[in-house]
Amino acid sequence: MPFSPKASDSPAKFSLDFIREMPKADLHLHLDGSLRIESLIEMAKAGKIELPSYTVDGLYDKVFKSHYANLGEYLNGFQYTCAVLRDLENMERASYELAMDNLEEGVNYIEVRFAPQLLMDPANGIGFDEVMHAVNNGLARAKSEYNQRPDVGLSEGLKPPFEYGIINCAMRMFGKKGFSPYYTQLFNLMRDHDDMAVIKAAAMEMIRASIRMRDEEGLPIVGLDIAGQENGYPAKKFKEVYEYAHQNFLLKTVHAGEAYGAESIFEALTKCYADRLGHGYSLFSPDMIEDASIKDKKAYSEHLASYIADRRIAVEVCLTSNLQTNPAIGDIKNHNFKHMLENRLATVICTDNRLVSRTTVSDEYKLALDNFPVPVKRLKDMVAYGFKKNFFPGSYIEKRAYAKHTLNYFDTIAHKYGLI
Ligand SMILES: [Zn+2]
Repeated sequence: MPFSPKASDSPAKFSLDFIREMPKADLHLHLDGSLRIESLIEMAKAGKIELPSYTVDGLYDKVFKSHYANLGEYLNGFQYTCAVLRDLENMERASYELAMDNLEEGVNYIEVRFAPQLLMDPANGIGFDEVMHAVNNGLARAKSEYNQRPDVGLSEGLKPPFEYGIINCAMRMFGKKGFSPYYTQLFNLMRDHDDMAVIKAAAMEMIRASIRMRDEEGLPIVGLDIAGQENGYPAKKFKEVYEYAHQNFLLKTVHAGEAYGAESIFEALTKCYADRLGHGYSLFSPDMIEDASIKDKKAYSEHLASYIADRRIAVEVCLTSNLQTNPAIGDIKNHNFKHMLENRLATVICTDNRLVSRTTVSDEYKLALDNFPVPVKRLKDMVAYGFKKNFFPGSYIEKRAYAKHTLNYFDTIAHKYGLI
């Protein structure tokens, strides 16, 4: 008997041309993982920074692979990108290029995240303020160039303008103390303290400086994130940092449930007031729960998933990155994204790292749409979450107007491709 798939089993065919043309947002995008590879090579040569190879193919072969053995190998490339970014001109250039690369594939809203303290070099005049200004200058330059174009604007039929926000990351931990000049200096100054105390002090200093720059200088610093290894460094240890952000109306996302059980997602929500979740992968992997006090792991996961869906807490989904850092997933069809869709979570398709994962927002959408059943109506919902669940730097009224225009533009493009 011939196999006849149910309608819901046959994903609508969305062409890459359509995907590139539809409006998009990327809410989980690391600056230091998203450099142009050619720029990295050029910057390294100019700055006499050692790379394992100075050709594009060589770097793809040795560092930025299409498949990684584990998270450690995935993170290996950041030492090179951070090294070249510890230079204000390079920082500004990389930020500008990142915005332009996004615009080139129809991504009109981005939230760029990075750990400012990893890029600081206080002995060479690169302090927190200098880092923030350099990144913001690059993004602002792209915005002013793009938004001046005659085919861009908020009037009907025009392409949505480019907007962006900056999310500052605190770091959970470091593999080695010589990782960045700032942290090396801080570890020396606080050598009588344990590592966790040093890391927390750095995070607190970072969040205070972020809010000062937002309030006094008007920089679009819109959110706080915490990155780095989850195991052994739970988000709840950074509760005061998140509380400070919360009390100052800075929005919060947390890398949670990327490589640790669903209890870390629960902590992100309840202890860190997370407005969004980075990855949230383990939400549908009850076996990953390690907290012995949780007896019925399956029920815990289900309750938590239902809560997240009901509260409309957006999950920043990074498909390629998850497959690369967690090779046990194997095929994309095994990715928990299918459960996120079935449970009606508010999912936003993101890249994580354009260079390290060798991907783009359009490629991530293509991967999702080719492998999971998503009708056009739900695709529009997914695109909408990128504009409704973002940490927009302007007022709520401005955010609504921008989202509304963007979603009308989605309809225009979907109509053009005969999808609606
Ligand atoms: Zn990330």
